[in-house]
Amino acid sequence: MAHSIDEVLKVHGLKITSTRKRVLGLYYQSDHALAHSDIEGQLDGEFDRVTLYRTLAAFEEKGIIHKVLDESGSVKYSLCNSSCQEDRHQDHHLHFQCEKCGNTFCLEGVHIPAPELPGGYQLSDWYMLAKGICQSCAVA
Ligand SMILES: [Zn+2]
Ligand SMILES: [Zn+2]
Ligand SMILES: [Zn+2]
Repeated sequence: MAHSIDEVLKVHGLKITSTRKRVLGLYYQSDHALAHSDIEGQLDGEFDRVTLYRTLAAFEEKGIIHKVLDESGSVKYSLCNSSCQEDRHQDHHLHFQCEKCGNTFCLEGVHIPAPELPGGYQLSDWYMLAKGICQSCAVA
């Protein structure tokens, strides 16, 4: 990790609080996207749901984490790389959901170019999800 968690919060204009440090720490420790419920499970009732929602919403707004949409039915988030800023996410890479463990990974190296749309449509964002077997499940 290039920056400490304190630095990341500071760079993105967020005050350093123990909640933010705890939650962001979990994202740094995880190699796959984490849903609200994953965080809740790991924190074991340390914070209430509303605080957690607000924390995740603030992280997303500030360009620290991005939404990862997969077929699990719950919104997951993953860390952004350093090119994301407030209200300007640049997470146009492939998301890969493993059919075995159910985890979804950011494949940062697989860039998804903007689709070309017919006239009259304005693009604001785009995603792509691939499914299959992840690296750790493939060797297991
Ligand atoms: Zn982002
Ligand atoms: Zn897997
Ligand atoms: Zn991603």
